[in-house]
Amino acid sequence: MLVSMAEILKDAKKRNYGVAAPNIFNKETIEAAYEAADELKSPVILDFAGLKDQEIITEISKYYERKYPHVVAALNLDHGGSYEEIVAAIRAGFTSVMIDRSKLPYKQNVEEVKEIVKIAHHVGVSVEAELGHVGMGYEYESTRDSGLTKPEEAINYIEKTGVDCLAVAVGTSHGTYSGEPHLEFELLEKLNSMIDIPLVLHGGSGTGDENLKKAVKIGIQKVNLFTDLSNAGLGVLKDYLMIDRTKMEHDRELGEFGNKNANLIETFLKGTEGYKQALKHYMTLFESNGKC
Ligand SMILES: [Zn+2]
Repeated sequence: MLVSMAEILKDAKKRNYGVAAPNIFNKETIEAAYEAADELKSPVILDFAGLKDQEIITEISKYYERKYPHVVAALNLDHGGSYEEIVAAIRAGFTSVMIDRSKLPYKQNVEEVKEIVKIAHHVGVSVEAELGHVGMGYEYESTRDSGLTKPEEAINYIEKTGVDCLAVAVGTSHGTYSGEPHLEFELLEKLNSMIDIPLVLHGGSGTGDENLKKAVKIGIQKVNLFTDLSNAGLGVLKDYLMIDRTKMEHDRELGEFGNKNANLIETFLKGTEGYKQALKHYMTLFESNGKC
């Protein structure tokens, strides 16, 4: 069942667990996310970024919704940029949208998010926004501190915008970290004690199991993941593609030597297998398994 993300995260907050939000981008990754959720009886949030292919992604998700009617999932636009992109996602059938105005001045951030909340709530779509700024891993050491979320500002922001959940900056970063990740657990504790709505952690990859487990225990209900899932997929794929010379044959038609056990169909399957295993690892780490 595709539901709004707010519904999934409210339960996670109530029962103190985290929900994995893998970036999905095609049929294979959506299928892997549904299979992982089905096998572990876990909710899942499908995060999709971009304007292109929104309708295709919605249709594929709806197919798996019919195939796994008991799986509780949300389809969320990740880092919604332009107004056009966000409205198109709502029209396409996304059950949640994230609007990222974290680089804008505070007042403008509030104004733009508020407008999207008004539109989205009219059609039962939940909204995630970001306050403070989660930067990129390659510039981690130089940008981390300036982007941290300020608790008092966050309370004012939630009141003014009416968002359903808030992405906070507590020391994580997108992509691969340059240097060691260090999280502000005290800040997260403070945010959790002052804020009623669910909190989101962007940049889960490379943050480390211990850090993520602790963050979920303290008060994070959604963890965004891509790089780790992608790397896990690539790892399985690399093993598969390692040339086994005993299986090399001369292709008479092409006049070439090739690995007879490798083909493109298998390649996609292998990449997805690694992605799925890593996703299941995180679902278990966040204790969302067995929750639905
Ligand atoms: Zn993000």
